Amino acid sequence: MPARPPPGKSLLAKWSSPFIGDYNCCRHCRLHSRRMTSLVVSSHHQRPLRYAVLGAGFAGLSVAWHLLKESAKELSVCVDIYDEIGIGGGASGVSGGLLHPYSPKEAAIGLEEANSELEESGQDLSEFVIRRRGILRPATNMKTLNTLNDNAQNCLSSCRIETIDKDSAQRLVPNLCVPLNTAFYMPDAVNVHPQHYLQGLFLACKNLVKGLSSSGFGRKELYLHQKSISNLLELKGEYDAVIVCMGAKADMLPELSGRLPLRTCRGVIACLQLPGGIGQEYPDDGPSILADAWLAVQGTRSLYVGSTWEWKSRNSSPKVSVDEASKALEELLPKASSIYPGITNWSFTEARAGLRAMPPLTVNGSLPLLGCIEDLIGKTQTCKYWLFGGLGSRGLLYHAWLGKLMAQAVLSCDERIIPPELTAWKKINR
Ligand SMILES: Cc1cc2nc3c(=O)[nH]c(=O)nc-3n(C[C@H](O)[C@H](O)[C@H](O)COP(=O)(O)OP(=O)(O)OC[C@H]3O[C@@H](n4cnc5c(N)ncnc54)[C@H](O)[C@@H]3O)c2cc1C
Repeated sequence: MPARPPPGKSLLAKWSSPFIGDYNCCRHCRLHSRRMTSLVVSSHHQRPLRYAVLGAGFAGLSVAWHLLKESAKELSVCVDIYDEIGIGGGASGVSGGLLHPYSPKEAAIGLEEANSELEESGQDLSEFVIRRRGILRPATNMKTLNTLNDNAQNCLSSCRIETIDKDSAQRLVPNLCVPLNTAFYMPDAVNVHPQHYLQGLFLACKNLVKGLSSSGFGRKELYLHQKSISNLLELKGEYDAVIVCMGAKADMLPELSGRLPLRTCRGVIACLQLPGGIGQEYPDDGPSILADAWLAVQGTRSLYVGSTWEWKSRNSSPKVSVDEASKALEELLPKASSIYPGITNWSFTEARAGLRAMPPLTVNGSLPLLGCIEDLIGKTQTCKYWLFGGLGSRGLLYHAWLGKLMAQAVLSCDERIIPPELTAWKKINR
């Protein structure tokens, strides 16, 4: 998780343009066109607009939420989410959950909302969405120091980065190593429980549907199907638009195989616990730590350390063998103890893993891949296909903002809603 805002951040303001589209290309666009020109839309007598969202990770649930939220209230809209495993079945469900929002309001979709949905649902969850607030990043080399100094000076007021010295850092986390006497403290950053967040977001989507449907305007529907999608064209006749949010498995679809500039990278995370009576507990209100290895702190005696980087792996299984876990620990523990030496007293309990979809490096940094993909799979009159992928190691950071842009582009049938930097991969690919 980066400490600095995503490179495309400044594009948000630039690309909040009004919807402009080719409103005659399909029924979907014509319906929207009528909305835009204020003609009467008698949605009760029409088949709802139907959207298929493939994948129920950060990307898919964000798009689903925004399709419901951003569509005109008088339109009937049905969103079907497909996931072969279920909510958080891919990288999102196993991620470290470290989120340094550049704008807390935009960065996660109603974190608080998702939290209260879970509490109200009466589910037996001992922890809720936000595990811990604050992230601390000690500078470990001159490059990080300069980059973070720069970020601290230029950050938005909504994402404070405080530059602190060793003593102040050690007041937050006793015995922390601060080799260059400087650390960067992000008090508004959070560490979320990714599965709880995703479950909360899905519940929030369902409640949104209930609320919108009872308002007397168009009917909204949302369904989650546990089903593996083996090719895109099988969905052709049923949907007005299909949005591929399958993370590292997007290019396993025959229509996209070998055609997306994505590399895969497996990451392992280890859970450690401090045995009773041994060593110093982690402070109750101490922040999580970002360094060469990160520590996502769960409680005073429980934390996650991550993550490894196994490039070109195709293994998306969350399960980690004994062998893989011990290799991961060999790699992670020296890095973690160089910053938090007390970690040597902690014991390994379990490991989990996920597969990242890494986008290519461009002059603007490593940017997610978004856009309409009918060039790749062939134009159809009835259904438009879209891709929201390549979230790399920053999915939590990006998903809310980009999910909203994606949904707006889908609803208006207009790819120009999306910043061109995020659709440029299509030209290179061609
Ligand atoms: C170890 C690790 C730690 C990370 N930590 C962080 C972090 O702290 N902060 C951060 O911002 N990012 C982190 N990331 C990155 C983040 O997890 C990803 O960027 C993000 O999860 C990508 O979301 P996604 O929705 O695109 O993909 P996924 O979460 O992988 O979702 C894709 C979904 O598609 C489903 N699917 C796949 N194939 C099919 C099919 N054929 N049919 C139907 N469904 C299918 C899958 O089951 C899955 O649920 C981490 C990643 C890893 C691996």
